[in-house]
Order: sequence, then structure tokens, then C-alpha cells
Amino acid sequence: MKDIRSYTLAELTDEFKNELSLPAFRAKQVYKWLSEGVSSFDEMTNISKEMRNNLSNIYYISVATIEKKLVSVYDNTVKYLFSFADGEMVESVVMNYHHGYTICISTQVGCKMGCTFCATGQSGFSRDLRPSEMLAQIHSAQNDLGIRISNIVLMGMGEPLDNYDNVIRFLRLVSSDDNINIGMRHISLSTCGLVNRIYDLEKEKLQLTLSVSLHAPNDEIRSRTMPVNKRFPIDELLTACRKYAASTGRRISFEYAMISGVNDSDECARELAKRLKGILCHVNLIPVNPVKGTGYRKSAIERQQSFIRILGRQGITATVRRTLGSDIDASCGQLRRRHQEENDR
Ligand code: SAH
Ligand code: SF4
Repeated sequence: MKDIRSYTLAELTDEFKNELSLPAFRAKQVYKWLSEGVSSFDEMTNISKEMRNNLSNIYYISVATIEKKLVSVYDNTVKYLFSFADGEMVESVVMNYHHGYTICISTQVGCKMGCTFCATGQSGFSRDLRPSEMLAQIHSAQNDLGIRISNIVLMGMGEPLDNYDNVIRFLRLVSSDDNINIGMRHISLSTCGLVNRIYDLEKEKLQLTLSVSLHAPNDEIRSRTMPVNKRFPIDELLTACRKYAASTGRRISFEYAMISGVNDSDECARELAKRLKGILCHVNLIPVNPVKGTGYRKSAIERQQSFIRILGRQGITATVRRTLGSDIDASCGQLRRRHQEENDR
């Protein structure tokens, strides 16, 4: 069976013509239904029953089925646990900011990178998601909430640049005007720092926002919490970031999860400021979300303020990210992990 949601309209039009002898307008009709988020061929009411049957013998439509849904009582943040046809599960979160709805989607089931503070990283890796499965998360949330999503962040489970080809295809599909049509300027991609892939991404010349999960000012601390740093040390990563920002003209957003006693001293802030000097960037400070078993605790507010002051003095803007959905384990990987634990009992 073929994965019809992962096609571009041009590819579907070609295949309909060459393999099924169907005219271009049929491909267009089917594609329109898919872009509106249908989950079966039977919903395509302007296509004959016979043709719908034929199509469903050749193609399948990826869907993300809601297994669990949690709504924050504080801010209406919604967290979903979705399952796919093979039973694998991922998380997505929908946040309501002033400028519309933002969805945080997953790009892999699990993650290979093993960051010590991350619930996903601690649960291992199952498989990559297909482009259709990334789109399906958006469709399911939109259909369930009766809303249009306007912004996407690739900050759910998984390392997007470790699933490079599927993620690039997803980005091209979701931003295309015959598909969901969310522009690149409304999309952020977050990476733990796969340097070779940052160079590849630079060549794609996309207008998206690159977020880099830095979380430490030097190799010693970073290698302790992020194993990927042993493969791509901080100097190489920041060189790639500097080039990326210069060649795309897009500001890089550095994520820095503040962990009490690990990476939040004034000395860390000064070292960070020195390293980031001259890079077109913004720093997002995030109080670390305590994950069971890690022993990490959030930094005190006073530490956050001190970081903002020290970075600011060197001309680097830093803000503390507003944490949404703190009552529903909104940080990635925590819900699936709890679900697995409950099922293991
Ligand atoms: N793999 C990518 C994207 C998914 S993780 C990456 O690492 O960038 C999305 C973000 O959540 C990253 O910045 C990651 O470092 C952060 N994160 C993971 N666990 C966290 C936790 N317990 N508290 C705060 N941020 C966390
Ligand atoms: Fe993977 Fe990102 Fe979690 Fe690290 S923080 S383990 S890269 S999902």
C-alpha cells in the first residue's frame, strides 16, 4: 500500500495519469480532501464509490488516532497522545498564544540522542515518522478542536534532523498552498545540534526559524547532559550556527534549559555570552521541567534574572519562555512515558 498523504500534488497527478489513467482534476479533488484532513476515502463525496474503492486498494491515508487528551486548567493548552496504524505512539501539544494556535509536533517515535534531562531521550527509539504522520498530527488536532493552526514547532518527540529527508518533505508539504498552507515563517525547527545536517539545512534556504538546544556554555557541561556533544562539540556547532545565520539572514534561537547547580551559575552565563557574541540570535531560557528519575531541579528565578542581565550586557537578548500546561506534563515525552509505565503495571 502507498502512503498517499506523503505525496505532493504534482506527484499524485503524475501517478494518477500514468498508472491509473485518471485525469488531473481527479488528483486535485482527492488532494483537496486530504489537505482538509479526511481520514478515509469514503469521506470524498465528489468521487464515485467505485473509484473510492479502487483508490483504497492502492493507497492508505495516515491518521493520528487520539489515545489520550489532557486539557490544562490554567491556559487551555491541550496535550494529545496519538497512535498510528502500527500502534506506535507520539505526543503533540496545542498552545493558544495571542497570535493564534501553535502546535508542537513529534518527528520520531522516541529519540536516539539520549539527553539526560529529557523524558523522550530516556525512553529510547522506535522509529522515524513519515511526512504523512507529521501532517496527521496537525489534522487530528484541528479536527478535534475545530480550529485552524497557524504556527508549528518541531519540538515534540524526536530529533528532526535525525529524520532529515522525511522532515524536509513534511516542511515542503505543510507549507505548500495546495496543502495545509502554513508558511515557513510560521515554523520553527529545534535541533540538539547535528552539525552536518545544519549545513544541509542551510542549503535548503528555508525561511523557518532554527532553534538550537544548547543548554550549556562549554563541552564539559554539555557532554554530561547531551551525549551528542561528544560527536559535535560546541565550537563546531556554533561555527555552523554562525554560518547559518549569516547565510539565511534568520536569527537563531538558542534554547537553554536551566538546571539548578548544573548550568546556571554566573560563570556559565559569562561564558555563554562570550561564545554567542556576534551571532544573530536570541536566547530562550527555560526552567527545566523535572523528569522523574533524573534528579534535576529548576533554577531559582534569581538565577534566570542574573542570566538575562549578564547576557544583556553583552548585547544578547534573552527571555524566559512562558511555560504552558505545567499541570499536564506538557514537556515532550512525559505523557507517553507515563502511559507506558501504566500499561507495564
Ligand atoms: N530533539 C530536538 C527537538 C525536540 S526536544 C531538540 O532537542 O532540540 C524540544 C526541546 O525541549 C529541546 O530544546 C529540549 O532540549 C527541550 N527539553 C527536553 N526535555 C526537557 C525538560 N525536561 N525540560 C526543559 N526542556 C526540555
Ligand atoms: Fe532527543 Fe531532543 Fe530529547 Fe535530546 S532533548 S533526547 S535530542 S528529543
